[in-house]
Amino acid sequence: MSESDCLFCKIVTGEVPAEIVREAERTIAVRDINPQAPTHVLIITRQHFTDAVSATRADSKIMDEIIREAHEVAAAEGVTETGYRLVFNTGTGGGQTVFHAHGHVLGGRGLEWPPG
Ligand code: 5GP
Ligand code: ZN
Repeated sequence: MSESDCLFCKIVTGEVPAEIVREAERTIAVRDINPQAPTHVLIITRQHFTDAVSATRADSKIMDEIIREAHEVAAAEGVTETGYRLVFNTGTGGGQTVFHAHGHVLGGRGLEWPPG
């Protein structure tokens, strides 16, 4: 399933270019166009889901795959020692702006808590 007007569906098909850092069977990892940390990579499902909750409801294995891929990216970026943050903004009030399931991998600098 894909949605003709969805930006991340277009990144998955290659219609919109992106810097792909890792590919897996059901996810791709791309560098965020507006990075908020030295490492800021998005783990995007190849299939269209509105958000992470919709994805896990449709297929509970997909979140496991996103988290594993996030860790592989963090390791490749050299941020596992210092630590990194995996974020799923969910809904407009949660900061979600692209309504296609994705996790953010953020690392390479100190990350404050609570987030803004
Ligand atoms: P959200 O706000 O939905 O959690 O995250 C969407 C993310 O997608 C934002 O961090 C934003 O910078 C990123 N983004 C928006 N447009 C593009 C794009 O065209 N290419 C890439 N690589 N990232 C994008
Ligand atoms: Zn989509």
